[in-house]
Amino acid sequence: MASAVSLAGLEKSYDYVIVGGGTAGCVLANRLTEDKDVRVLLLEAGGDKTTDPLVLTPGLVPAVYGKDEYDWNFQSVPQSTLNNRIINQARGKMLGGSSALNFMMLVYPSKASIDAWAAVGNPSWNYEALKPYLKKFATVDVPSASTKDICALTYNNDTVAYGDGPVQVSFGEGYGVTNKGWFDTFASLDLLSKTDARDGQALGAFQNANSIDPATKTRSFSAVTYLTAEVRARENLKILTNTHVNKVLFDTTGSEPVATGVEINVNGTVSQVSANLEVILSAGALQSPQILELSGVGGKEILAQHDIPVVIENPAVGEGMQDHPIVCQSFEVNEGTPSGDVLRDPAVVQALLDMYTADRSGPMGQLTISVAYTPLVNKTGVVSDECVQELFAGRDFSNPARAAVRDIVANPNEPTFQYILFPTQVHIADKPENMATHLIPVEPENFLTIMTILNSPFSRGSVHIQSSDPKALPVWDPKFNDDELDMELLARGVQFVENLVAPDTAMGKLLNQTGRRLPQLKGDDLETAKEIVRQRQISVFHVSGSCAMRPRDEGGVVNERLQVYGAKKLRVVDASIFPVEPAGNIQAVVYSVAERAANLIKEDRKAGKV
Ligand SMILES: Cc1cc2nc3c(=O)[nH]c(=O)nc-3n(C[C@H](O)[C@H](O)[C@H](O)COP(=O)(O)OP(=O)(O)OC[C@H]3O[C@@H](n4cnc5c(N)ncnc54)[C@H](O)[C@@H]3O)c2cc1C
Repeated sequence: MASAVSLAGLEKSYDYVIVGGGTAGCVLANRLTEDKDVRVLLLEAGGDKTTDPLVLTPGLVPAVYGKDEYDWNFQSVPQSTLNNRIINQARGKMLGGSSALNFMMLVYPSKASIDAWAAVGNPSWNYEALKPYLKKFATVDVPSASTKDICALTYNNDTVAYGDGPVQVSFGEGYGVTNKGWFDTFASLDLLSKTDARDGQALGAFQNANSIDPATKTRSFSAVTYLTAEVRARENLKILTNTHVNKVLFDTTGSEPVATGVEINVNGTVSQVSANLEVILSAGALQSPQILELSGVGGKEILAQHDIPVVIENPAVGEGMQDHPIVCQSFEVNEGTPSGDVLRDPAVVQALLDMYTADRSGPMGQLTISVAYTPLVNKTGVVSDECVQELFAGRDFSNPARAAVRDIVANPNEPTFQYILFPTQVHIADKPENMATHLIPVEPENFLTIMTILNSPFSRGSVHIQSSDPKALPVWDPKFNDDELDMELLARGVQFVENLVAPDTAMGKLLNQTGRRLPQLKGDDLETAKEIVRQRQISVFHVSGSCAMRPRDEGGVVNERLQVYGAKKLRVVDASIFPVEPAGNIQAVVYSVAERAANLIKEDRKAGKV
């Protein structure tokens, strides 16, 4: 039974109650309170770390992983296609959510991967509809002349910033010979991007920017950019941190359940807050479905297992989970080739921190990752249309979502793969304690890592409660490569890596060709490439799709206005609504979806539709 508690300044009711002050939640809190007539409560389970150097200093990100005050630290169930390894999934547990501990890469989605959202039953959500919001959330600074030169940004004629939003994005200054080797290698394979990937169509190597503020060289994330001092001072916004939302409360007396508020737990004291207009779940792709199930919205078997009365039966809650699989192959470098593995020496870390503290210079304030998009490739390069069709022959694509993914992979102008040049070794463990396990250099040699990411996977995983205790993490089963096409595609992507590291390429010349590889395997034949996937695939931390925006009878949880089917006054706004995983790193799409959702919510209120 909930008791009434006195929480400083907390009123009994607000117009909107936002659950989760993460990437999307902070956007909503800002945009909805632009309207002085509405009162908004933002509830976040974690604390406010917006002045914490471990969060703000780009180079210190590994220090927050696995720590309870920053990271929910999910572990998957063992993955049968990955030698039964457990996959770790960091998730931000603080104001700003996962934008406060992500890798800060700012990559924009490909047009077709967003148009696929319309193709699976959401005609009002295509690339054109999202485009204005892709420019609304961030301001991308102009790259310097040297960055343009090293990173082959020749198509990029920027003289002014791209976009005009709150998140501050920059290219940095630290690019060097390894980045040049990357671009020269892709150029020699005729795979250098000639167009700006930010505009939805690009193939080949390109330089992404990062969500690092160029003025301060600090992480620019949703809690500092959308919840500025000025926004926090708004009288119509109340932010409550260290507040765990247990469930959504419903009035079930009418024809349709109406969300009336939420139950919260603050330091063990349980209480209730009402929402006059709406409850909006923004707890992320692993926890928005958890809260729905705890509230009685989900599959009836799962709810029955935990003695939760059914309010709305919808077995699609927590299903449809998507993520980008990423295969990490590390290559020993030649002496003299720069590698981040030198950070194994605490004296080097201290020297770099001293530089950063003195004048914000040096690697602690930068990221030097470079990327590339390619169509379906294998060891011979770009795969012919006939080979693509052969791969699909005899398989069932009657499900519109599978057909939409097939159409992207079959399109020679779309990026089936994203490749990443990562400046350190990556360590894969059978049961990693947390995300830092992958990043701490345990091998004595210095390495670079090439990562192969499948942009449009066919497999679908799940996340479901394992207890009626709101504090117990739900069970995450990504079911990586459950659809065997993903393994077929990924292995071909891994085969292609041999073209990048061959001795005669610019990249290959930076590597010790007789040195170590992690794993010690050469992936040029398909079977060995599959073994590399089994040993070295993890998650890119792009979980999405677990409360998908789709027609209800096709696995949907929310409609095109992001309202939960079967309920009144309840929406979901975060990565869980993505019906199809976009290409590239997904924070740009999370921010843009939240920006668009804020407009939909405002429109509905003005039209008297809530
Ligand atoms: C390690 C890592 C690296 C990544 N790197 C990149 C990258 O380089 N580039 C990129 O584009 N993307 C990256 N991503 C992905 C991107 O950051 C996420 O997809 C995005 O931030 C998710 O936003 P969201 O709003 O859906 O969820 P989140 O930002 O995770 O927000 C959810 C919020 O809800 C809160 N919450 C959860 N449950 C409750 C509850 N019961 N009560 C109250 N509050 C609750 C959480 O604490 C959290 O603050 C990365 C992600 C991770 C984890």
